[in-house]
Amino acid sequence: MTEQRIVFPVAGDKITVPPEGTTLSEAEKIKKGICPCCSGTLVFQEGCKACYGCGWGGCE
Ligand SMILES: [Zn+2]
Repeated sequence: MTEQRIVFPVAGDKITVPPEGTTLSEAEKIKKGICPCCSGTLVFQEGCKACYGCGWGGCE
């Protein structure tokens, strides 16, 4: 058996580590392929990045 070391946050405790991507600026998220609106995965098509999750699209 593999020992599991999953620590669940206790109710009432403040979570100091934000979910991945939330500390990035909008430009950094786009560069990493993360939607700045919904943090979904961006797809690259025809020179533009777009998000199927929320309809966000970034073209320059
Ligand atoms: Zn999105």
